[in-house]
Amino acid sequence: MTAPRPLIAGNWKMYGLGPALEEGLKVAAAIADAPPRARTALCVPATLVERMARAVAGSALIVGGEDLHPEASGAHTGDISGEMLQDAGARMVIIGHSERRAAYGESDALVAAKTRAALRAGLEPVICVGETLAEREAGRTLDIICGQVKASVPAEVSGSAFAVAYEPVWAIGTGLTPTLAQIEEAHVALRAALVESLGEAGRTAPILYGGSVKPSNAAEILQAREVGGALVGGASLKAADFLAIVRAAD
Ligand code: PEP
Repeated sequence: MTAPRPLIAGNWKMYGLGPALEEGLKVAAAIADAPPRARTALCVPATLVERMARAVAGSALIVGGEDLHPEASGAHTGDISGEMLQDAGARMVIIGHSERRAAYGESDALVAAKTRAALRAGLEPVICVGETLAEREAGRTLDIICGQVKASVPAEVSGSAFAVAYEPVWAIGTGLTPTLAQIEEAHVALRAALVESLGEAGRTAPILYGGSVKPSNAAEILQAREVGGALVGGASLKAADFLAIVRAAD
């Protein structure tokens, strides 16, 4: 059986005005010149989704959003639905990022509802889980992340493309990364949890690692057991850095 292609997805967070589209264009051109082994995605602020999708139309670069509302439409001022993202040209969406879980109190149940909404809209969900430093220090990492994955990834993902991202909260944007042994321990446990709750469908979905991935550590992290790609924050904002991470998966 051939291994599924890794997924390298960038998360631009709340960064990027019009001129930043140029970075996406550079990524699209580079992966057209030399197609990488990894599927390559940039999840960008809602204001850039349509412009980015138009700018890179016809290329292999997947454009994604960073969040969505569970409903297709309604009286939800300021929110955006999966159908709207899809209409703007997105094909993927990040769900349950720890920044949203922390800042907006997003629960596993809400993350699961958002995941169902992404599937309804034809978007590939990238569902994030991860422990805080206090949880790791209390020895609760595996319980926390496996509990999150079981409650955040609904059975409806079976048969659709989806990914899980393991992002230790303390490693996001800090320059800190877990040891390779810690990454493998988490990913192996998450794989077992996915298989336990989804059966066969849980066997092949990529489990991305996220948290201070950069060109200098990507190759080592990407060859770790059960690491099926990376979710990249800061280092996805510059095409050269992001492309170096994409190439590390070749
Ligand atoms: C993220 O935002 O999902 C992330 C992993 O950020 P960084 O790569 O900057 O740590």
